[in-house]
Amino acid sequence: MFDLASLIRPNVRAMKPYSSARDEFQGEARVMLDANENSLGSAGPAEYNRYPDPHQRAVKAALAPLKGVAPAQIFLSNGSDEVIDLLVRLVARPGQDRILSTPPTFGMYEVAAALNDVELERVPLDADYQLSAEAVRQIVASDAKIAFLCSPNNPTGNALRPADVEAVLRGFRGLVVVDEAYGDFAEQPSWLTRLGEFENLVVLQTFSKAWGLAGIRLGMAFASAELIAYLSRIKMPYNVSENTQRLALGALADTSRFEALRQELLQGRTWLRQTLGELPIVDHIFPSDANFLLTRFQPDAGAVYQHLLGQGIVVRRPSQAACAGTLRLTVGTPAENEALVAALRTFTK
Ligand SMILES: *Cc1c(COP(=O)(O)O)cnc(C)c1O
Repeated sequence: MFDLASLIRPNVRAMKPYSSARDEFQGEARVMLDANENSLGSAGPAEYNRYPDPHQRAVKAALAPLKGVAPAQIFLSNGSDEVIDLLVRLVARPGQDRILSTPPTFGMYEVAAALNDVELERVPLDADYQLSAEAVRQIVASDAKIAFLCSPNNPTGNALRPADVEAVLRGFRGLVVVDEAYGDFAEQPSWLTRLGEFENLVVLQTFSKAWGLAGIRLGMAFASAELIAYLSRIKMPYNVSENTQRLALGALADTSRFEALRQELLQGRTWLRQTLGELPIVDHIFPSDANFLLTRFQPDAGAVYQHLLGQGIVVRRPSQAACAGTLRLTVGTPAENEALVAALRTFTK
């Protein structure tokens, strides 16, 4: 029932990808005069005079065993933002097709739709920020080319029920993109563990959250080798810089630091949930499988936001109507978490 080739935009199927100097010659030669690089060296303190590997082979080789996938099932991008845009461009024809998302959710799906002149079909989450049976039916019946499911969801924090995601994977005719930017903080296993079962599944992850590397801009997409090959055809040749590839390799060789960071954030989340729960201005803390807590304040979240800002503490005010009265509080260092709670204690209105 799912047919990838017929989903790909005809112009993409027909196009011949750019063949870079590093595509046409790989490896080390004694004299490299094929790419118009500067053989003399670099301005500045570090040497970056050569183009990076356009296929990021070393990073993918280190990542594949960690994720339990083949290197050919990995696509790396300049942050997840890039691959969200590329996925839309891969399957949705401007002015004709639609993509689908489930608000309240991450804003980049809507931005990618608008940028590509593609309509956005909104299937709202229910009051618990889950997919209702009706929502699952609507998604399955939709002719949208992509359904973006964010789980754990930003800005609400909760993971979607696996049975609902599975129903979408089984019934929807387009790509199902499960954005797991916060998956490292979740209880439930990654959808990566089920990649082999669903040809239409794309899992997004990132180095920006649990890995603590938002500054290097590195996103990951995992899918069938066929779909990854299509993404590779349409990307800019050198979309992941040499610096980013080196820093990612360094991180992947230091998984114990990753695990320590992850554990400390999980402990911080537990502490923050307990401590916030004792404050009279806190009306509700939503369940979180992420590194933040969506928290409803009463009577006035806007006043709490301004109060925190006055104390030099910036949090996020979700703009979606379904998150009215809430603030999104990122888990910080223990000292930052304490500063946040101390500032909230001094709020009076
Ligand atoms: C933070 C976040 C990302 C990561 O984006 P990058 O471009 O990789 O930094 C992706 N999806 C969601 C839902 C996020 O909140």
